[in-house]
Amino acid sequence: MTETTDALPTEALEVLRRTFGYDAFRGEQGDIIDTVIGGGDALVLMPTGGGKSLCYQIPSLVRSGVGVVISPLIALMQDQVDALTALGVRAGFLNSTQDFEQRREVEQAFLSGELDLLYLAPERLRVEATTRLLDQGKIALFAIDEAHCVSQWGHDFRPDYLMLSELHERWPDVPRIALTATATEATHQEIATRLNLTDAKHFVASFDRPNIHYRIVPKDNPQRQLLDLLRTEHPGDAGIVYCLSRNSVEKTAAFLTQNGIEAVPYHAGLDSRVRSRNQSRFLREDGLVVVATIAFGMGIDKPDVRFVAHLDLPKSVEGYYQETGRAGRDGLPSTAWLAYGLQDVVQQRKMIDTSEGDLAHRRRLSAHLDAMLALCETVSCRRSQLLAYFGQHGDACGNCDTCNTPPESWDGTIPAQKLLSTIYRLQHERNQKFGAGQVIDILLGKETEKVRQFRHEQLSVFGIGTELKDTEWRGVIRQLLAQRFLTVEGDYGTLVLTDDSAEVLGRRREVMMRREPERTKSKSRSSSG
Ligand code: ADP
Ligand code: ZN
Repeated sequence: MTETTDALPTEALEVLRRTFGYDAFRGEQGDIIDTVIGGGDALVLMPTGGGKSLCYQIPSLVRSGVGVVISPLIALMQDQVDALTALGVRAGFLNSTQDFEQRREVEQAFLSGELDLLYLAPERLRVEATTRLLDQGKIALFAIDEAHCVSQWGHDFRPDYLMLSELHERWPDVPRIALTATATEATHQEIATRLNLTDAKHFVASFDRPNIHYRIVPKDNPQRQLLDLLRTEHPGDAGIVYCLSRNSVEKTAAFLTQNGIEAVPYHAGLDSRVRSRNQSRFLREDGLVVVATIAFGMGIDKPDVRFVAHLDLPKSVEGYYQETGRAGRDGLPSTAWLAYGLQDVVQQRKMIDTSEGDLAHRRRLSAHLDAMLALCETVSCRRSQLLAYFGQHGDACGNCDTCNTPPESWDGTIPAQKLLSTIYRLQHERNQKFGAGQVIDILLGKETEKVRQFRHEQLSVFGIGTELKDTEWRGVIRQLLAQRFLTVEGDYGTLVLTDDSAEVLGRRREVMMRREPERTKSKSRSSSG
C-alpha cells in the first residue's frame, strides 16, 4: 500500500480491529461506513443481526464530533451505552427516564467534546432545549435507527419520526444514515422521501435468513403443539414464544414450566424488576424460554436463540419477519414456528374494527392482516413469499414446511360455493349472520339445539356439505378469508360476504385451496381452529 492512498478506509478498519475486535467488515458494511465517513447520506436495509450498529458507530468514531443516534428503543439505551463503554467508547443517552441531574451530566459531556456517541429518543428533538444543545456542540453524523417508524404505511409508525425530516434543514452539512431491518419496497421509498434523503446512497442487503426454517401450522391445541415441538426438536434450547395477550403469556409460561421446560413470562404488565431479571436471565443462561408479548426482543442481541414460536397470528408480515429474525443470529439452524387458526382472524378483525384512528388507518391494518393470511395459506415456498413481500426474489428454498412437505392444492370451487351460498341464504332469506361453527353445522347437517332453535334444518343448504369434515371446512373458511372471498366482523366473528364473493357464487372464479399435509396429531382435543 502506498502512503498517498486515501486514509479513510484504513482508519475505519483500524477502529473495527482495535475497538471492536473484528477482523473484517461484513457484507456492505465497509462501503456504508466509507460513504458516511466521506460526508454522504446512506439508507441501509439490512436484516436483524446483519451488523447495522457498526455502520454508524465506526463513522462516529472516525469523524470529528459526536455521532447522534436517534432510536425509539428507550429501554435499551442503557444497555447499548454500557456495552460501548466496556469497549472504551464514550457514549451517553438522553431520554425521558432520566432525572434533571443525569441529563445535565450527559449534556455537559456532549458540550465539552467528551462523547463519541449520543443516543436520543426521537421525542427529545421536540424540545427546543435539545436542538439548542445540539447547535452548541459538534455533530459527526445523525443515525436514524428503526427508520421504518417514519412510514405511515408500515407496521410501526411513530409520529415523532416525522420531525426527523427537519434534521437536514437545520444541520445541512451533517451526514445522515437511516437504518432498518424491515421495509417493503413501498416503505423503503417512503423512508427516503419523508427523511429527505434525496441524495442518499441506498444499501439493500438480502433479507434472506437461510438458517431459519419456517413452518406454519393450523392451530389445534396450541400449548400442546408447542410442547411437542420443543420436546422433539428443541430440547434444552433457548427460544422465544410470542403470545398476543398478557394472560396467555402467563398461562403458557406456567404450562411449559409444569411440563419440565424452564420458561419465564415477559410483558408490560409485570413489575419492571421482574421484567429486567427475566430478560437478563434469558441473555445469560443457556436454554431458557421466554414467553412474551411482542414488546420483548427489540434490539436484544442473543446469538443462540434456536426457535421463535408464535401462538397467535402476528398482525403483519413485517412484524412476523422482525420477530422471527431474532432466531439464529449466530447462523446455526433455527426454527420459526407459527400456529394460527380461524379464531385469530376473528380476533384481529375485531381489533381492527374497534381500533382508534380513521378509515385509512383501519384499511392499512386490514391490508397487513391480509398479507399475513396469504403467507399462512400459501402453497408455495414460505421464504420466497416472505422475500417477495419485501420486493426480493428467491427460488424455492428447501428449508420451509411447504418446500419439505408440499401441500397439495385442490380445486375448492364447489365447497367454496356451498359455503358462500349458505352464508348468502342466512343473510338474505333469514336476515341472519352467524360465525363459523353454526355455518359448518348447517353444511354438515347437524341437528344441534341451536340449529333447531333457528330452524336451520329447513334451509335448502342444510346437510349439503358432508363430503368434508369439520376441520376441513375450517380450512376452507380460512382460505376464503385469506383470498378475500369472505370476511368476518363483530364480537362473535360472524361471516360476511365481500364484493368478490359474487365471482365465486356466480361460477366465474375457480378457488384453489391448500390441503394441509398429514402431520402427527397430538392426542388432545381441539380447542380452536
Ligand atoms: P443489527 O443491528 O443489524 O441487528 P448488530 O449491529 O447488533 O446487528 O450486529 C449483530 C452481531 O454481529 C453483533 O454481535 C455484532 O457485534 C456482530 N458483528 C457486526 N459486524 C461484525 C463484523 N464485521 N465482524 C464480526 N461480527 C460482527
Ligand atoms: Zn421454502
